[in-house]
Amino acid sequence: MKGILIIVDGMADLPCKQLGDKTPLEAANMPNADFLAARGELGYMYPVKPGFIPESDEAIVSIFGNELISSTRGQLEARGTDIKLVRGDLAFRANFATIDSLKEGNILDRRVGRNLTTGEAEILAKALNKGIKLQNQFIFKPTVGHRGALIFKGGFSDNISGNDLVYVLGQTRITNKISPCKPLDEEENSQYTANVVNEFLEKAYEILNNHPINEERRRKGLLPANYLMIRGAGIEVPKLKLYRRWVSAAYMPLEIGFSRVSGMKTYSFNYPRLKKFDVYKNLWDGLRKACKFSEWVLKKNRKSADYAYIHIKETDLPGHDNKPFEKKEMLEYIDRTLFNFLRKFAPPNNIKVVITADHSTPCNKKSHSADPVPVLFYNGSIPKEKKFNENEARKGNLGRINGKELLAKVGFLK
Ligand code: ZN
Ligand code: ZN
Repeated sequence: MKGILIIVDGMADLPCKQLGDKTPLEAANMPNADFLAARGELGYMYPVKPGFIPESDEAIVSIFGNELISSTRGQLEARGTDIKLVRGDLAFRANFATIDSLKEGNILDRRVGRNLTTGEAEILAKALNKGIKLQNQFIFKPTVGHRGALIFKGGFSDNISGNDLVYVLGQTRITNKISPCKPLDEEENSQYTANVVNEFLEKAYEILNNHPINEERRRKGLLPANYLMIRGAGIEVPKLKLYRRWVSAAYMPLEIGFSRVSGMKTYSFNYPRLKKFDVYKNLWDGLRKACKFSEWVLKKNRKSADYAYIHIKETDLPGHDNKPFEKKEMLEYIDRTLFNFLRKFAPPNNIKVVITADHSTPCNKKSHSADPVPVLFYNGSIPKEKKFNENEARKGNLGRINGKELLAKVGFLK
């Protein structure tokens, strides 16, 4: 193995009042990241390009040297599940969400308060797959938490919008209204596709809104999962650059799908089930599993693979929830486990390490932002005191990087 790329999702942040105007990365005690930084270089990266607010898929697609236009989120998510897709199948990323009513169309929560249990999601998915009658075949597959993939079988157009206008390429829009899917061109098939998808969404609302699971949730004072928000329509396998000598340790459908489509040898594990509405307990279970699993993948492939891509997802969520302490603790945990392992694993094996993020998720914005992310490049150079954080990274010798240039810059394309 020559190199390891670690993407810590949404790791980068802005100064937080709760942390005495430090970022979680500045506040966190991370001796192992600092050890690696001291023996390498720091820099900062715009994962897609300056001014662009990336979704995770847009960032990883760019970091691996692809044009955004070559990929759709729906296809990547669907390819991260066990559903068999054929050419022409229309795939979306889907979220269970809460709206007030279909008539009013106000979005109350895009993720059902993020406490939909795995069991509930499975039961609701079954109700949708059984209960909705359409002319066309479809599959809704719940994945992790409120997430899922939605597939319509057969010759559709993918030139249609999703039903959540918050997701517009590279920007954030403030909208709390659902919007029917719209054709994005004049083709008859696009109009037809939008009609089918909208019919599906209306029927899904009827089934979900009245489902006993949601009545039970309302009784408990929880938000009902009464709607599906969908985005990222795609009908073709994304044409991405191939990384055949890479291995990947991935566990969210997006990253699994991306790794598979990129030709990497992809290892994944089943995410711990969310059982009792306790989201953060579930995230910590996931994080512990992910760090251990990543170590195992690295050890197992040390001789057989040239490069490894590791994606740690959990750190994005406290940013969305404005929980800087939780984020700091997660970063410290990753440092104690995975980075501590790297500190011992990389130097004797002459392996280079890059640690970075796919975007900033500043706690005080509760969303992704266009701010650059820090890049740590360990290359075994003579130690010079360095700290790994956003501020230091801005002054680093590696300088400013656009996502697409990262792998060439650190020599991971050889
Ligand atoms: Zn992300
Ligand atoms: Zn996020």
